[in-house]
Amino acid sequence: MTAGHAAAPGAPGAADAARTESGEGRPLLNRRLAGFGTTIFAEMSALAVRTGAINLGQGFPDTDGPEEVREAAVRALRDGRGNQYPPGPGIPELRTAVAEHQQRFYGLRYDPDTEVLVTAGATEAIAASLLALVEPGDEVIALEPYYDSYAASIAMAGGTRVPVTLRPRDGAYHLDLDELRDAVTDRTRLLLLNTPHNPTGTVLRRDELAAVAELCVERDLLAVTDEVYEHLVFDGAHHPLASFPGMRERTVTISSSGKTFSFTGWKVGWVTGTPALVTAVRAAKQYLTFVSAGPFQYAVAEALALPDSYYTDLREGLRRRRDLLAGGLQEAGFAVHRPQGTYFITTDIRPLGATDGVAFCLALPERVGVVAVPTQVFYDHAAEGAPYVRFAFCKRESLLDEAVARLKRLAP
Ligand SMILES: *Cc1c(COP(=O)(O)O)cnc(C)c1O
Repeated sequence: MTAGHAAAPGAPGAADAARTESGEGRPLLNRRLAGFGTTIFAEMSALAVRTGAINLGQGFPDTDGPEEVREAAVRALRDGRGNQYPPGPGIPELRTAVAEHQQRFYGLRYDPDTEVLVTAGATEAIAASLLALVEPGDEVIALEPYYDSYAASIAMAGGTRVPVTLRPRDGAYHLDLDELRDAVTDRTRLLLLNTPHNPTGTVLRRDELAAVAELCVERDLLAVTDEVYEHLVFDGAHHPLASFPGMRERTVTISSSGKTFSFTGWKVGWVTGTPALVTAVRAAKQYLTFVSAGPFQYAVAEALALPDSYYTDLREGLRRRRDLLAGGLQEAGFAVHRPQGTYFITTDIRPLGATDGVAFCLALPERVGVVAVPTQVFYDHAAEGAPYVRFAFCKRESLLDEAVARLKRLAP
């Protein structure tokens, strides 16, 4: 998770901006966005700076991606490629590279000209998809805890968010398929599905995805899938929902270069889907940013073509760091939910004698010099998430070692 995300309703300070009144006493922030005023990440990062704590709150790598990819961006800038508005759907080189990537890893065929759209990160792709596909009053189902841009984007689209909660059991988080089925109503327009899942690290299994696909077909739902951690699966495998029977024609698949290539600041993302779906998403996208990241698009086109060894090394490096941090957190006394994918480990603080993740995280920098994020901000039902705290492990091993040494001072 990156900076700049709004706290979920009910999170500390969430309603601040909504409370800011203009002269007439009318809130400045409109009703759709009331409750999305401030971000827990800004607060926690400020705390990290003030206390000199190690920041395992925000999910960005502390080491840049491959040098040859960075140099490709420099070359594009110097050669004057992408310094002016690139084509609306994205440069052809990148659209072709995205299509080849989907074919190479998943056997999914997309036409680069009509079925691929380049966006300002996955964040814009998600927002544009919801703005394009959701009518005011439509219900949108999302797995809770959820990436917090979902709540804001659903709200901006005028949709109603319907959370289906992932619950911890046997050291990991699980989707209850019956609960998902029960959440579908006649007003449900789409399912916003994130796997590998931030913040829980859950990777939906093939049989679970098959059931989700069946449900979408049976109830005639659209699916928007957030697959930004597609290459960060440590146990099991990633299966795009679009690869299941009946799903290609109803799924907007979203991914991004940020997490896969460790350049989260470039904000190059993409959408794949049928021409009708991509045209719809593009209708919204063109009035959000129109285009973005011209020279970086050339660099990401090259990055996507990196050999399999790049993707394997990325995954294995993060797997090592997951194991390092998970082991350390366990020794420090946390109950650890072992993530099957992503950058994040969610822990239960109750074995440490604490129950309120927000209070725990606010005190942690002073206590031991580490910053983490209370998972509760990713829930509609804050009480469900109260005792959970998320740590990011996309950091140098030396930094994780130091964080673990500090966290061990918590051990009862
Ligand atoms: C980081 C993240 C994003 C945002 O991706 P960008 O390409 O940086 O916009 C979207 N979804 C999830 C689940 C993320 O963790």
